[in-house]
Order: sequence, then structure tokens, then C-alpha cells
Amino acid sequence: MSLSFPIKVTTQRVELPVLEDADVVLDIRREDLIHPLISGNKYRKLKYNLIEAKNRGLNTLLTFGGAYSNHIAATAFVGREYDFRTIGVIRGEELSAKTDQNPTLTLAAENGMTLEFVSREMYRQKYNPEFLQTMLQRYGDFYLLPEGGTNSLAVKGCEEILSRDDQQYGYICSSVGTGGTLAGLINASFKHQKVIGFPALKGSFLNKDICNFARNPNWCLEENYHFGGYAKVNKELIHFINDFREKTGIPLDPVYTGKMMYGILDKVSKGDFPKGSKILAIHTGGLQGIAGMNEKLMKKNLPTLCL
Ligand SMILES: *Cc1c(COP(=O)(O)O)cnc(C)c1O
Repeated sequence: MSLSFPIKVTTQRVELPVLEDADVVLDIRREDLIHPLISGNKYRKLKYNLIEAKNRGLNTLLTFGGAYSNHIAATAFVGREYDFRTIGVIRGEELSAKTDQNPTLTLAAENGMTLEFVSREMYRQKYNPEFLQTMLQRYGDFYLLPEGGTNSLAVKGCEEILSRDDQQYGYICSSVGTGGTLAGLINASFKHQKVIGFPALKGSFLNKDICNFARNPNWCLEENYHFGGYAKVNKELIHFINDFREKTGIPLDPVYTGKMMYGILDKVSKGDFPKGSKILAIHTGGLQGIAGMNEKLMKKNLPTLCL
């Protein structure tokens, strides 16, 4: 099986006074432009898994995620595109009655994904043989993609984000969820480069997960830019994302790439990068999540993200 999805890599220079003042060059790799739904790193992470599933003769993909998961959105879409049946095990039973109010789940269902809602407690036990056996009885044999899609084949796919031309950069920056993407970047990086991960959630458990897959030591995590935890935002972050878009024309998502870019520019303004540094930031996508985040923000009477 070959994946025919065309990938055009675009790299864009970010022009802002803060960068000029610090004499730092910042380029952004627009992986978000790969596709509006299979955006960025989720396509990279799925690619070799889809090939493996086909090689094993499996036509069903089963995976897990929360209500706004980019991984769920991407899996549903590639399933439709490449003739897989897709099953999404979704955290939170209460959502089943309100699927139509959730843009991510609505789209996943429209792309043919069967949604299997489970309680939060059940969700914590999702990898138990008993639960998986129930799924097997219900849906027949399937290829299991872990939550967030990270496994060794996903890391292999993310290694393809970088190419030889990227040697010119001294720093490679990426947002971090499970760390699979960062591990791929670390493996594909050159010795003189430093790979900096910006976790979108709290917790030093990430170190261990990244070490599982990363083969080089030239990386670190900047843990000060998670804004309180996964999918947590505040007015300052929303304002930053809207302002960045207005000034550069580049949209960022509130869960991952917005926090990374806030962190990069904050570090630049503090003089953390030597004069003359060249940074490559990876835009890992996630823009499908903006609509869902805006619905949450509106309910709380907070400012929303510009579309
Ligand atoms: C999933 C995701 C990440 C995190 O990727 P990991 O490989 O889990 O670290 C980063 N950015 C976006 C937009 C994502 O959807």
C-alpha cells in the first residue's frame, strides 16, 4: 500500500520586532498546511501505522481520545481516505447525547468513525485485556493505535519532518503532548542542534516517554509554558494567539502551538538565544480544535480566538 497524500513542505520566516531586536531568525515549518483535518504531526504519526495495518490485513483502526482530540479527528479522516473502518473510544459517557454540540466529534462521525463513549473510569482502563476483548467481540479484529497515536512507527513518521536542508538551524522547537513528535525530531536532528520541547501539559513523566524513543541526547524540555495544564488557557494566551495571527498571518492553536510560540518568543525576549541564532519551530497543526475551544470560551464569557 502506498499513501498518495501529497505533502508539500512550506517554511515561513516569522518577522516580529522582538526577533529583530534580539538578532534571532525564526522560521516556522507549516505542517499545519498538510491538510486541515489530518493536520501536521498526526499525519506523520499515522503514516507508517496505516501501512503496517494494511500489511497485517487489518481494515479497522481502533483508537482513543478526549472530546477535542486532534488524533481522533485525523484518524477518522484518514480512515475515510484510505478505506479503514474507524472506531474512536471517547472519554466521557455524558458526551454521547451531545455529539452534535462538539465540532471535533461531529466531524469524526461525519467521516464515518464509530464513536464508543466510555466513562472516565473505564477510560483509565482502556488498555486492559478485558476491555479490548469486549471491543474485539463487538467490532472484530482491529489495529490498535494508542491514545495520541505515539508508538515507534509514529516516531519514525515524525523523523521525516526534518531534512538535510535543516542543518542550517541551531535550534528545533516543537510542542509536546506524549512526546512522540519530539522523539522523531530528536532522532532526525544533527549533533550541533538543540531540540527544545514545550510541553502542553504538566508532568515530568514526559522525560521517560521521550527517552524510550529518542536516540540522541541533544534535547531539553521548557516546562514553564503549559498555562496550567492540558487545554487550559487564559486571556493572555488568547490575546497572544490573536495578535500573532494579525501580525504574521499565521494561525496557531490554543492547546499546543500557541503555547510553544508564546514560549519561544518569551525566551527570545529574555535573551535565552545567542545573537545570530537560527530557530526552526514546527507548526504541528491542531487548528481543527479552535472551534471547540471557542465554544468553551464563549460559555465562560472569555474572549475567543479569531478564525
Ligand atoms: C498531538 C499534537 C501535539 C503533540 O504531539 P505528541 O507527539 O503527542 O507530543 C502537538 N501539536 C499538535 C497540534 C497536536 O495535535
